[in-house]
Amino acid sequence: MTGFAFELTHRDGLARRGRMTTPHGAVETPAFMPVGPQGAVKAVTSDELAAYGTQIVLANTYHLHVRPGHELIAELGGLHRFMNWSGPILTDSGGFQVFSMKGLTKLDEDGVTFRSHIDGSLHRLTPESSMEIQSALGSDVAMVLDHCPPLPAARDEVELASKRTTRWARRSRDAYRGPGVPFGIVQGGTDEALRERSAAEIVALDFPGYAIGGVSVGEPPEAIARVARFTAELLPEARPRYLMGVGRPEDLVEAVAAGIDLFDCVMPTRNARNGTLFTSEGKLNIKREQYRRDPSPLDPSCGCETCAHYSRAYLRHLFVSNEILASRLNTIHNLAFYLGLMMKLREAVASGSFAAFRETFLAPR
Ligand SMILES: [Zn+2]
Repeated sequence: MTGFAFELTHRDGLARRGRMTTPHGAVETPAFMPVGPQGAVKAVTSDELAAYGTQIVLANTYHLHVRPGHELIAELGGLHRFMNWSGPILTDSGGFQVFSMKGLTKLDEDGVTFRSHIDGSLHRLTPESSMEIQSALGSDVAMVLDHCPPLPAARDEVELASKRTTRWARRSRDAYRGPGVPFGIVQGGTDEALRERSAAEIVALDFPGYAIGGVSVGEPPEAIARVARFTAELLPEARPRYLMGVGRPEDLVEAVAAGIDLFDCVMPTRNARNGTLFTSEGKLNIKREQYRRDPSPLDPSCGCETCAHYSRAYLRHLFVSNEILASRLNTIHNLAFYLGLMMKLREAVASGSFAAFRETFLAPR
């Protein structure tokens, strides 16, 4: 657990402002983690990530395990060096991909067997092997392997998966050898009794941080906010809380209101590549004809390179012409929007104006 700490510096209602220290530096919370599934946040460099306020990146254990292989990354000095990112890295356990893919061939108490989506080769993921892969990558935060059944799932199925998640969390914790710290994951779907039991069991294992898993898997936004609120209160005050896979800007604001500290989502980067851009005036689809002759910047109140130098008309032209630059400029802007939002949220909590910020942000536009 060398080099890991979490300190809360401000509170405003249930919202928290804090600092998570890792072996690769500090993360001011609440924080958003851009997702780099294959050790790259699609379309941008590590320098660009840092320039727009990225403090910590999420990488996917499943993808890096099947290609190029964690042994190869370890041999080349670990994931930080491999992807030229000197800040903190959080890796998921690989479970989410394995449980949501067609290649899953066998699930038992010991682990899961699956076929690689790349070459069909058979792989086995267990709580121990997931931690071993994440250690080889050199993650600052390693997530325990959890069992997340794809929804819709019956209550008994969610209950069995939660119980297995607890057993696997204990094995993961016991197997983990650093260099970072392991985070436990609370499961339980949208059922409050199951969430309560899962939280009690996972917290009893005394992890340095806790994640709320099994959300943002197709349920309505109100359900995400409700589960976040309910589960956050079951977690220890003094440890970081991570809401996995969420989400839209308004979901982040609601989750910060519930006392969540960490987020990840592919939404800003994936939407950027589809031409859906987040602005201070709401979402915008750059493909639309109405932007054909529009000389104005994407978002006049944004200071990113895209908004500083390029018009909506140019961005639309790049997108419809399938230019690589469209993905780059759109990703830069969407990341700047998300990371800028997190900075505003941190400032609002620190200055005691979070309630006013939330009300303005969520007001219909
Ligand atoms: Zn911008």
